[in-house]
Amino acid sequence: MSEASAKHIEGATGPWEVVLGLEVHAQVASKAKLFSGAAVGFGGGPNSQVSLVDAAMPGMLPVINRRCVEQAVISGLGLKAKINLWSRFDRKNYFYPDLPQGYQISQYKDPIVGEGEIEVERDDGSTFTVRIERLHLEQDAGKSIHDLDPDATLVDLNRAGTALMEIVSYPDMRSSEEAAAYVKKLRSILRYLGTCDGDMEKGNLRADVNVSVRRPGGPLGTRCEIKNVNSYRYIQQAIEFEARRQIAILEDGGAILQETRLFDPGKGETRSMRSKEEAHDYRYFPDPDLLPLELDPDWVDRIQGSLPELPDAKRARLVSQYGLSAYDAGVIAIERSRADYFERAAQGRDAKLTANWVTNGLLARLAENGLEIEESPISSDDLAGLVQLLEEEVISSKIAREVFEHMWAGEGTAPQIVEARGLRQVSDTGALEALVDRLIEANPGQASAVKAKPQAIGWFVGQVMRETGGKANPGAVNALLKAKLGVD
Ligand code: MN
Repeated sequence: MSEASAKHIEGATGPWEVVLGLEVHAQVASKAKLFSGAAVGFGGGPNSQVSLVDAAMPGMLPVINRRCVEQAVISGLGLKAKINLWSRFDRKNYFYPDLPQGYQISQYKDPIVGEGEIEVERDDGSTFTVRIERLHLEQDAGKSIHDLDPDATLVDLNRAGTALMEIVSYPDMRSSEEAAAYVKKLRSILRYLGTCDGDMEKGNLRADVNVSVRRPGGPLGTRCEIKNVNSYRYIQQAIEFEARRQIAILEDGGAILQETRLFDPGKGETRSMRSKEEAHDYRYFPDPDLLPLELDPDWVDRIQGSLPELPDAKRARLVSQYGLSAYDAGVIAIERSRADYFERAAQGRDAKLTANWVTNGLLARLAENGLEIEESPISSDDLAGLVQLLEEEVISSKIAREVFEHMWAGEGTAPQIVEARGLRQVSDTGALEALVDRLIEANPGQASAVKAKPQAIGWFVGQVMRETGGKANPGAVNALLKAKLGVD
């Protein structure tokens, strides 16, 4: 196993190591809730997606949604984790207005998925392993709305009973960057598997971050848990703040209080929610309304056999099959839709050139506009058309960037734009010769400079490019200039 990197925070009294473990709540991609047939969806009118089970009406009984169980098994297999053929649901008791049952149905001692692991890439391309402790199924709660009425808290139960996968890691991360990279990779795997859409803005993937600090290699410190952080940036900000807060306390001779904290994105700080003394006693016990879950091993094997190619395998194949750099392959493989787009565009084309246009051209422009590749105004076929014109030297790479802009603006395909705007590269020596002759004659000083120092030929190339509006073929211009000026 590769080690987490030893990136220390320098305190007033010496270096500190941050130790991080994450509990990620991922909403199961499913049409219905975990124990009722009510629809799961975002943006429905308040309390419009609530069955009698979700509202905990007396006498209502939960019925397990088979699809949610299957999604948990698919996720577990995708995390290279042990699938527990026998698992059980427990009641986690606490009172809150948005939890009408008075308990959450979760899995405590016997989760559906046991230990697994994820290989995570850092920004510099190196990797580390995060061990997964467990994945269990549980219900989400409803939502309390405090800001619509000055005198009352309103409750929306649309989310109540929605299926969540809680994915618990071991404390294997050592920096805020590693924690964010872990969530990014986990999200990528779940999206490949189709078991969670990973929409963090909607709260469909959110992380509870356990933070502690210690002297490098020393015993583990007391941890604080930061609840419900829902963006990569907030995860990093929350960890940076919390680690420094703990270090300041310890360096001041104080002790860390084990507690649950909240991150305030506006202030960029964490604040106490409840301490260990106030922690709930959840009085877990097996839910008497539900039978234990017993999975057929053949069913699990069939699911294993039908898993899609996952990000690690995809990345390795993009490198071996197309010769992409590990970096480009990683950028493309993180999203299945990107990889599909690239593979369609690269059919019969120069794959590295295509990858370059996908990452530096298209993805950069999409990111500027907050778009995903599914929303790209340039189709994979059209991007391939642009690459083809480059390969055939119909246009230069400078002109290609111009054509790309017109394609982005929806003006047509690359060949249409090149023809309509007369952007075809001039490779015909005859057409360039008169221009080259004229430039040499008008600039005798530059011409003799080239004879003394051949690199000075670049000045003439620049002039030709300027006069042709960038349409001259640079190779042809160079060859012509060398012949005329008598250098090689
Ligand atoms: Mn949970």
